[in-house]
Amino acid sequence: MASLDIIQFPCRSDNFGVIIRDQATRQVAAIDAPEFEAVDAALKKAGWKLNTLFITHHHADHVEGNLKLKESYNCEIIGPEKEKATIPGIDKTLRGGESITWAGHKIDVLDCPGHTLGHISFHFPDDKVLFAADTLFSVGCGRVIEGTMEQMFYSVTQFLKLPPETQLYCGHEYTVANCVFALTVDAGNAALQARLKQADAAVKAGGASLPITLGEEFKTNPYLRLKDRAIRQHLGMENATDQEVFTEIRTRKNNFKG
Ligand SMILES: [Zn+2]
Repeated sequence: MASLDIIQFPCRSDNFGVIIRDQATRQVAAIDAPEFEAVDAALKKAGWKLNTLFITHHHADHVEGNLKLKESYNCEIIGPEKEKATIPGIDKTLRGGESITWAGHKIDVLDCPGHTLGHISFHFPDDKVLFAADTLFSVGCGRVIEGTMEQMFYSVTQFLKLPPETQLYCGHEYTVANCVFALTVDAGNAALQARLKQADAAVKAGGASLPITLGEEFKTNPYLRLKDRAIRQHLGMENATDQEVFTEIRTRKNNFKG
């Protein structure tokens, strides 16, 4: 099977940039372009030439580098059909639910409305990698800005169906703050307590808390633990639907002053 090299690096104040390369064809892609300089520097450091830029959603901190990267590398820009009007330099569009092949790698495009209406995530099923951008964070999920709680519930909980060994990459380094909040609804969770310590140490050492496996997220991320009895008891929502529990937790996070 074709193998993928993946490099993650910090961008802006708390964004992540990611560049990937297929080892066989030496094709290179980036997932989102938070800023030109950091993506360009990461490519130069690796000695890679960008062929394809995959965009998850139209927010400025995910597309700001688009035009300069296109100018420098003549890369093709591929993003969500529903947001094509607001993604600079877009050449080709994708819809949630479709699958494509890039440099010999299958990519399932997942429809993830909620944070924005057209947000898509890129799942590489054979490589067991998920680029979830601002839909799923480690121990958290994105803010519901353009869509509804119902849409975000659908978008986030679809990841429960993916294999636990899948490596999760996200748009931001929010793990420590997410753990601090998650402990307010899931205080007795030993895996969550351990994740806070580990992420805090990683970030303080100048590193990153990501990637992480989805299996680890299934044990620590409250939005993926909606059936958990202790969380439901804490919320007084033993008989509520999963979507009601999701909405309650996401609303509490909006109002949480860490
Ligand atoms: Zn965003």
